[in-house]
Amino acid sequence: MNFLLDIFFPKVCVECGKEGSDICDECFLKIDIRKNQQCPHCKRENANGKFCSNHCQKDYLFDQLIVCADYSQIKNLIIKFKYKFSKDLIKIFTKLLKNELKNCTSGAHVVPAPIHKKNFKKRGFNQSLLLAKAITQILPNTKLIDCLSEKESRSQQAHLDRSHRLNNLKNSITITPHPQLKNILLIDDIVTTGSTLNECSRVLKNAGAKHVTAIVLARN
Ligand SMILES: [Zn+2]
Ligand SMILES: [Zn+2]
Repeated sequence: MNFLLDIFFPKVCVECGKEGSDICDECFLKIDIRKNQQCPHCKRENANGKFCSNHCQKDYLFDQLIVCADYSQIKNLIIKFKYKFSKDLIKIFTKLLKNELKNCTSGAHVVPAPIHKKNFKKRGFNQSLLLAKAITQILPNTKLIDCLSEKESRSQQAHLDRSHRLNNLKNSITITPHPQLKNILLIDDIVTTGSTLNECSRVLKNAGAKHVTAIVLARN
């Protein structure tokens, strides 16, 4: 089936249009992958994406943020991934993640950020769940726990500004039965204001999680 799809709809590089793959080797090499991480608040560079002080951390409930690249670098790939399921794209993102996760703890629970039910109906998949699965294959002794979900009532985040986003998110995420939580790797595709990651972290910590490392493909 994939073979036939490739004949009728040949894959083209999202950057240069060359046929054959979602991104060609040359364009992949041009992606500016983060060599250093940053304090999630003030963006001062560091090795592990931790906050530089309690002051920087005061509005956040996760403990660390690992980012693969700036959004502008992989925008076209992410947009394609959001609207079309592709195993090849997952392979490409896995390569990016592998690079950033070298210093990450193994022995953690990997939890995908939940997707709004409307988006799930539209797409048929949760992109964060696919990334979370990829991470369990990169890091030894990790276990996937898909325990967060969104209440159907909340409006979609994209239409709202930061203060409305925070209000809209409050108590919108629920947790389903899960094993004892300790170190969490929380996975989402993009971070913008951090409000979704924050709300997920709040729910996870209320449920007993000790440390939450958020991991995203890109920061917008
Ligand atoms: Zn290309
Ligand atoms: Zn800082």
